[in-house]
Amino acid sequence: MAVALFAGLACTSEKKTEFRILTAGIRHESNTFIPYLTKATDFTVKRGSDAMQGMPWARFLEDAGIEVIPTLHARGGASGVVSKEAYEGFRDEILQALRAVGSVDGIFLDMHGAMHVEGYPDAQVDFIQQIRKIVGEDVVIAASFDLHGNISQEFIDGLNIVSAYRTAPHIDGEETRTRTVRLLVEALKKDLIPQTAHINLPILIPGEKGITSVEPLKSFYARLNEISRIPGLMDASIFVGMPETAVTRAGMSVQVVAQDEQYLPEALTQAELLANMIWEKRTDLKFDVPTASLDEAIETALEAPETTVFITDSGDNVTAGAAGDGTLVLDRLLAYKVPDAVLAGIVDPDAVEHCVAAGVGAEVDLSVGGKIDNVFSNPVAVSGKVIRLTKEQPDSKQLDAVVQVDGVTLVLLSRHRAFTDPAHFRAVKIDPLAHKIVVVKEGYLFQALRDIAPRAIMALTPGFAYQLVENIDYKHIRRPIFPLDPHMIWSANMHTHK
Ligand SMILES: [Zn+2]
Repeated sequence: MAVALFAGLACTSEKKTEFRILTAGIRHESNTFIPYLTKATDFTVKRGSDAMQGMPWARFLEDAGIEVIPTLHARGGASGVVSKEAYEGFRDEILQALRAVGSVDGIFLDMHGAMHVEGYPDAQVDFIQQIRKIVGEDVVIAASFDLHGNISQEFIDGLNIVSAYRTAPHIDGEETRTRTVRLLVEALKKDLIPQTAHINLPILIPGEKGITSVEPLKSFYARLNEISRIPGLMDASIFVGMPETAVTRAGMSVQVVAQDEQYLPEALTQAELLANMIWEKRTDLKFDVPTASLDEAIETALEAPETTVFITDSGDNVTAGAAGDGTLVLDRLLAYKVPDAVLAGIVDPDAVEHCVAAGVGAEVDLSVGGKIDNVFSNPVAVSGKVIRLTKEQPDSKQLDAVVQVDGVTLVLLSRHRAFTDPAHFRAVKIDPLAHKIVVVKEGYLFQALRDIAPRAIMALTPGFAYQLVENIDYKHIRRPIFPLDPHMIWSANMHTHK
């Protein structure tokens, strides 16, 4: 069925075109600390022409007169390891479509790069190798990535063109995908078989140390355009990597795309230079905001002259796919007997249901959080008063609950979400600036809250997004690696020139 669907939807099938490009993608950032699997239904899946709808990369290909054969594009947020069933279902549908369309000149893959699948050492390698089995070595394959991808040499071996985002926080996703298809079309038109030089750097940095507008990364990313303009080279990338995917390929890497095999030595030289420059500055990769341990953050906030201090629970950063039900902060706020704090919020639909059943004004005994993140957190027993039941949106079906537990105004959420904007506080009828301490579950405070926060501290809390990677008891990453092995000696040339 899928075969007929894809063939029928080849969007420019009536036109006689010079080149045929098949498109596909499985985009996922897999966090191996999360103790549950990501299923097929957790992905947004688009097939055929739906996958092209409103996409600048698709418009570029159409404008270039390419016959585009869109197949399956699956996209998920950051969450647990992908189930074998989900991955194999997507993969097999793409492979089936690929077999059915006959010959193609090029393939565009829309990837994240940090996917990890249960039962596979590196599913992205499996994916590209299965594709190559069908199309052989002469079809040009170009793939776009999030710079948080963890990329292995074996994966690169199956690809011709690799291009990653150049901004974190990401604002150039569409630009990157369009650049990738532009390079693919350029290769086809000039009859090139590009090759990509790749170097894994033994550096593991947390997301909040990988902000591209901050030095030294800012200068490294600025160099990518210069490298791309060197004769014979097409593009260059720096992957910051995803340290919460505890696999051997996790960490930073650099790539330089050569137009053809003859320019591969130049690409490798440029990749080495870039990798060595990054390595030299590895200790300068730092947090760009004030940070503290959780206890220090609470003590600082209590003594601060500012009326309100925002504390971010960075280990339980919901926007990075963490559980959102971590209880470390709740536990410490209660232990400190803080007189006035807002905790927004803890995801716990069962506790919300309990509050709804009890009703506004009722005294409740609850076991809060620590159910999803039962790795770093435990449920915390609290007694408090239900002061409000609210809705996320006026038409929301589920309620959220605001419970007063001693000095803590605790927001219990029926759904996994983060408070990143003043509007989210309005929805639960809380004025954050009327309280001394406001805790939210993100890394760097989001801009809309930064705009109103008199002061903010990033608490380096353990959790699925733990920023202190040097404190994580890794079992499967490659060693030595910085900063876990701070005294290691390394240079790119040691590994690329045998
Ligand atoms: Zn990312």
